[in-house]
Amino acid sequence: MNINEYRDIYVFTEIRDGRVIDATLELLGEAGRLKAARPSLGYQVVAVVLGEPEDSLLSTLGHFGADKVLNLRHENLAVYSTEIYTTLLNDLILTDKPDIFLVPATVLGRDLAPRLAARCDTGLTADATKLEFDPENPESSLLYVTRPAFGGNLFGTIINETKRPQMTTLRPGVMEMSARDTTRTFQVEKRPVSLDGLKDGVRILETLHRDHMAVDITKADIIISGGRGVGDNFHILRECADMLGAEVGGSRAAVDEGRIAKDFQVGQTGKTVKPRVYIACGISGAVQHLAGMEKSDYIIAINKDPDAPIFSVANMGLVGDALTILPQLTEEIQRYRQ
Ligand code: FAD
Repeated sequence: MNINEYRDIYVFTEIRDGRVIDATLELLGEAGRLKAARPSLGYQVVAVVLGEPEDSLLSTLGHFGADKVLNLRHENLAVYSTEIYTTLLNDLILTDKPDIFLVPATVLGRDLAPRLAARCDTGLTADATKLEFDPENPESSLLYVTRPAFGGNLFGTIINETKRPQMTTLRPGVMEMSARDTTRTFQVEKRPVSLDGLKDGVRILETLHRDHMAVDITKADIIISGGRGVGDNFHILRECADMLGAEVGGSRAAVDEGRIAKDFQVGQTGKTVKPRVYIACGISGAVQHLAGMEKSDYIIAINKDPDAPIFSVANMGLVGDALTILPQLTEEIQRYRQ
C-alpha cells in the first residue's frame, strides 16, 4: 500500500426515513473544516450515498458541504445490509483511494465501520470526538483522532501512520454542522453498481418505529434530567418539562433502575446533548455523565450534597431536595404564565 496515492475526505451518508441524518451532515461540516485547515493538500469532501435516493437528497449533501456527491446506485440498496454495503464500500476504497473515511457512530455506523476497516485492512478509531491534522507538520495529512478512553477518565489520541484510509466513526451531536448553503457548487456522480454474486445472510422482514423515538433529546432546547436521587418521582420532572416545553433525560443509574428508557440516557454511553438549558436533578455528576452534557449553554444543578461534582460544571447550583424544588419551580412558571 502506497499511502501517498490516497487523497480526499470521504463521508458515509446514512439515510433514515428518506432523509440524511444530522450526524452525516455534522461530519460534512467537520470534513469541510479539516479541508480548510490544510488547503495545501487540495482535498475534496466526498459524500458517499448508496441506493437510488431523490436528487433533492443528493443536493442536500452538497448544500451542507460536499464538493462531490458519489452515489453508488442500485434499487436494492435502499435498505442497509452489512455484508453488501461492506463489499461495495471496500471496492470503492480500492478504486478511489480515499485518505480519510468518516462514518457517523450511530448503530448502523458502528456495525459497518469495523467490518469495513477489517476488510480493507486498515485501522479504525471508533467513537471519536475530535479530529485534526498533525499539528507538528503543516504539510502532513496524518490525522490525529481523539476519543474518550477508560470510561471517559482519559482522552486518547490515535494516529494511523501506515494504512489507508484513516477510518473513524464520530459521535453524533459533537461536531458542528455547517449552515445550509443552497448556492454552493458541487459535482454529482451517479455510479451504477452490480450486486451480482453478492449475498447477505440477513433478511429484513419489517422495519418498526418505536413511538418514543419520535422524541430526540439531542435536538431539545431545554432538558430536565433526573438521576438516582429522583427515585421513582420522574413524573415531577415531566410536569415541569411540560410547563417549559422541555424534554426529560436521565443518568445511567436512572436508566438502569428502569425510571426512564435508554434512548433518553445522557452521557458517554448515552446521548451527547447541547441544549440551551440543562437542569440536572439528583445527579451526582460522574465524568461519564458530564461527557454527554457539559457543552450545554447553561447548566442548572439541583443536588442535596453541596460537594456533588455536578456543581463543578453548573452555571447555577441549588443545594437542596429536587423533589421539593422542582414542584415549586413548576408552580412558579404556571403562575408566571397566568
Ligand atoms: P448517583 O451517583 O448515585 O448520584 C445520585 C445523586 O443524587 C447524589 O449526588 C445525591 O446527593 C443526589 N440526591 C439524592 N437524593 C436527592 C434529592 N432528593 N434531591 C437532590 N439530590 C439528591 N452515567 C451516565 O449518567 N451516563 C452515561 O452515559 C454513563 N456511561 C458510563 C459508562 C461507563 C463505561 C461507566 C463505567 C459508567 C457510566 N455511567 C454513566 C455511570 C456513572 O459512572 C455514574 O454511576 C452515574 O452517572 C451515576 O448516576 P446518578 O448521578 O444518577 O447516581
